[in-house]
Amino acid sequence: MVEEQLIPRGIQDKRVLQTFLKVERHRFVPAEAREKAYGDYPLPIGEKQTISQPYMVALMTECLQLRGTERILEIGTGSGYQSAILAELAKEVYTIERHALLAEPAHRLLREMGYKNISFKVGDGTLGWPEQAPFDRIIITAATAEVPDPLSKQLTDDGLIVAPIGELFSQTLTVFHKDHGQLRGESFTSCVFVPLIGKFGLQH
Ligand code: SAH
Repeated sequence: MVEEQLIPRGIQDKRVLQTFLKVERHRFVPAEAREKAYGDYPLPIGEKQTISQPYMVALMTECLQLRGTERILEIGTGSGYQSAILAELAKEVYTIERHALLAEPAHRLLREMGYKNISFKVGDGTLGWPEQAPFDRIIITAATAEVPDPLSKQLTDDGLIVAPIGELFSQTLTVFHKDHGQLRGESFTSCVFVPLIGKFGLQH
């Protein structure tokens, strides 16, 4: 996966590549899909949701420019795979999932794997996590037309947000930098994520 998918497509951050070698992706996919865990595609995880393609997880992670000191907010825990990657590379991860049926097994697995720097919440991630704000980085792993207002407010100045911005079935991976209270976005690649559903999401 690292040698055939991530490196040839330009993932360079050594810490990111090492983390992808370390975190066992097969533990995050349903038993019946386990032999496909390292394939170059997203996989279904139940509740009509997916674990993102390895390259997309790597690209989003690299875009966050993590050094190990950051507090990160993740919207869309899903399988918990991205949460584990972030927990390896940053100080603290706060992750929110709206489906309790996905959140619970992800919590259990991440605890079992020994992660102590991940905090979990079940609810509408478009509202953010005001009690724990501000965050140095925010990652939205579901499609949205724009960054939900509460999330941009909960980002530190000089912080970064990575999110798939667009419409249903067609988005652009975008990295926003907060500079003097203003978000400025830079477009990366086209992508397709499941919709962000919530008060400030693509669908209510
Ligand atoms: N990061 C995940 C990808 C999950 S797909 C992984 O590595 O497996 C996106 C997830 O976002 C889905 O689980 C979906 O239920 C969740 N989601 C969608 N809208 C949400 C919202 N408003 N708040 C929290 N989670 C949301």
